[in-house]
Amino acid sequence: ATVPASTSSRPIRPTLLVSRLYQPANLRDVGPDNRLQGEVTCKSQRLMQQAGLIHPSNPGCYYYLPATVRSMEKLGRIIDQEMQGIGGQKLDMPSLCSADLWKTSDRWNLMGKELLRLKDRHGADYCLAPTHEEAVTTLVSHQTTLSYRQLPLLLYQITRKFRDEPKPKFGLLRGREFYMKDMYSFDVSEEAAYETYESVCEAYTRLFTRLGLRCVQVQADTGNIGGKLSHEFQLPAEIGEDRLLICGSCSFSANIETLSSDQTECPQCKSGTLTESKGIEVGHTFYLGKKYSHIFNAAFSNAQNKPCIAEMGCYGLGVTRILAAAIEVLSTEDSIRWPGLLAPYQVCVLPPKKGSKVDEAGALAEELVHTLGETLPRLRGEVVLDNRTQMTIGKRLKDASRLGYPYVIVVGQGAVEETPKYEVICQQTGETMFLSKDGLWDLM
Ligand code: ATP
Ligand code: MG
Ligand code: MG
Ligand code: MG
Repeated sequence: ATVPASTSSRPIRPTLLVSRLYQPANLRDVGPDNRLQGEVTCKSQRLMQQAGLIHPSNPGCYYYLPATVRSMEKLGRIIDQEMQGIGGQKLDMPSLCSADLWKTSDRWNLMGKELLRLKDRHGADYCLAPTHEEAVTTLVSHQTTLSYRQLPLLLYQITRKFRDEPKPKFGLLRGREFYMKDMYSFDVSEEAAYETYESVCEAYTRLFTRLGLRCVQVQADTGNIGGKLSHEFQLPAEIGEDRLLICGSCSFSANIETLSSDQTECPQCKSGTLTESKGIEVGHTFYLGKKYSHIFNAAFSNAQNKPCIAEMGCYGLGVTRILAAAIEVLSTEDSIRWPGLLAPYQVCVLPPKKGSKVDEAGALAEELVHTLGETLPRLRGEVVLDNRTQMTIGKRLKDASRLGYPYVIVVGQGAVEETPKYEVICQQTGETMFLSKDGLWDLM
């Protein structure tokens, strides 16, 4: 590796100084067993509040603080890559939806109390959208010139959804206001729609693999969305609210909701035994058929120029739920561990305590922040300096461990020696290494 020459001593951007980051910790010293904070119901919520990632506002609603927003934006970019990789086009639909659409599909009744309803100044009924089948199908139905040549059409968005959950709890895992990626597909035939369905499932599998999350794809109930075929992507976790049955002998796996009785014999291979486990539903795919396209008349013209009703699918990912679920399963009781790609910042550099023997290492630490960020595109804006030099290295290391930066670099005694060495802690693996500058660049 070629290590770049030292960069100038320009000041570090305030947002890259730990002392300037807005991460207001709340319930700082509440341990896992402390029930005083009645509303803290799971590990990820406690860790995220302690680390200043989220702040509770009202039941099921949170302030997403700056580090969380960084992480969500990273997740959003990965989702964009995967969805656009299979032909998805991003749009953004209104959250404020007229009741007319929902009455047309009858979900104004079916959704019951989960639908957040309101009236405008003229007394007209509206809801805050919990999902967008009605809206997107209406949109597509308005295009009278849609040709079979333009299909499959895949439209998606990443927006806030509103659901008046009976029991909002577990922090971002079950909110009343949360971010979802929802995609909707329009195809010429049932066969084509199944192909699209498959390609979305594959994209979901790739996405979770990239994040390092071992999700299982299980057969699922179609619920009030309706349709014929459905799968959930479940992240195994003790805290999960879904019960899954997985066969030990074949590929069968299902949400228990899909089986009429609780059975132990596999309905697919008839010989394997089903074992039950718990999961957090992080994604859900539905083959809808013509259910909505028929109601809203979403039609395209076929090769004979005849109007035909499109075959649809819809596909959700719980964006904020994925973040919390990842923290839930990867973290220890007191330290957050992120999927590497989603950590708000990749590297934290620690200069020595003020007044220490190796005070001069402070300038080297600043230089390191500049050069890492400027020479490695992956690390642009991703390296922070823990400039709280009134605190000991030990204390700052503890903070860095709790926040879960994938890499922590201590610039101390070793850095001022003839051949400088840096202490590098890879928090994902727990490994500590002493590296030369070349070694550091190779690692990064
Ligand atoms: P659940 O069974 O957990 O209530 P759902 O089946 O009602 O979820 P879907 O309608 O399938 O949810 O929505 C798509 C995705 O949105 C879900 O797979 C989940 O990841 C996410 N999601 C749903 N409800 C919430 C919520 N209240 N808070 C956060 N994410 C949610
Ligand atoms: Mg639900
Ligand atoms: Mg569900
Ligand atoms: Mg679902």
